[in-house]
Amino acid sequence: MNKVKAEYIWMDGHKPTEKLRSKTKILNGKVNNVDDLPIWGFDGSSTMQATGHKSDCMLKPVKLIPDPIRGGDNIIVLCEVFNADGTVHITNTRAQLREVAEKYIEHESWFGIEQEYTLFQGIKPLGWPDNGFPAPQGGYYCGVGADEVFGRPIVEAHMDACIQAGLDISGINAEVMPAQWEFQIGPLGALEAADQTWLARWLLYRIGEDFKVSATLHPKPVSGDWNGAGAHTNFSTKTMRADGGMKVIEEACKKLSIKHTEHIAVYGAHNEERMTGLHETCKIDEFRYGVSDRGASVRIPLQTAQDGKGYLEDRRPAANMDPYLVCAKLIETVCG
Ligand code: ADP
Ligand code: MN
Ligand code: MN
Ligand code: MN
Repeated sequence: MNKVKAEYIWMDGHKPTEKLRSKTKILNGKVNNVDDLPIWGFDGSSTMQATGHKSDCMLKPVKLIPDPIRGGDNIIVLCEVFNADGTVHITNTRAQLREVAEKYIEHESWFGIEQEYTLFQGIKPLGWPDNGFPAPQGGYYCGVGADEVFGRPIVEAHMDACIQAGLDISGINAEVMPAQWEFQIGPLGALEAADQTWLARWLLYRIGEDFKVSATLHPKPVSGDWNGAGAHTNFSTKTMRADGGMKVIEEACKKLSIKHTEHIAVYGAHNEERMTGLHETCKIDEFRYGVSDRGASVRIPLQTAQDGKGYLEDRRPAANMDPYLVCAKLIETVCG
């Protein structure tokens, strides 16, 4: 029998930001369908998901992709966490998005997530000098050259892995702060966009291991005059994408302004360190929207304004946000 390695991935109960966990299950032969994968258990007391006395949690496979690192018939398996009695675990935010996406399915929501991250080697960003700081920001964004760009081999390996795994990665770029990068997932339906963002994050951390480089999603990895890291969430519904969509987008912005605080509550921990009103952000306690405005909470892309239809960009989510919660919140506010 041809043995297959299946890497089961889930989100833990770490606070204030969940972490990814995974472990390997050996299967007897190739599996093509997620429903054919066995449910598995884990020790929830080691992942902040249970107490030591009642420690068993369940992993239910919900999505399967080819494993671009191990290759062959090996797979990566995204899981939802359930309690031993079969109820949804409190940390299982995907279950919330499943419900919301189903409820508002006729709106045909699409999401494009821009995932920013920062590469670190030891205690400092990759390529930064041992003493002091690199030259001030200005030349790094979409830069080229060994003096401006740090970590390209990792970024390329990650992009290739995402493509091989069948993820809908739509691009990458070097960011404003040196050693900071971005990849984009989508546009896709809510569940698919959020699942793929988590899977791409896992691949990033895993590939970083081979380079002895870690990636952090902290929204403000270096304090001071350095850009923070966000996860701009681009969002549209069927009516936004159709003729006359601009009116729907403006209505959506008005709804978002009323629910600003509720949104910020699920847009990632430590976001107040990033959303200062500087470095292409809006202040965390203000809501503004505008065409082409990168200092607004929500930007309407120029192309959308010109076409009179398209999508909006919510610039508030921090890089460490949970895309299940962010997508669910956007759908509830805008479609509700
Ligand atoms: P920028 O850096 O200028 O803010 P990016 O090119 O990094 O923009 O990201 C734009 C994102 O918008 C992409 O992830 C893309 O998938 C997404 N997108 C494009 N069209 C739509 C749409 N109609 N609905 C939702 N997302 C969209
Ligand atoms: Mn971008
Ligand atoms: Mn960016
Ligand atoms: Mn953006």
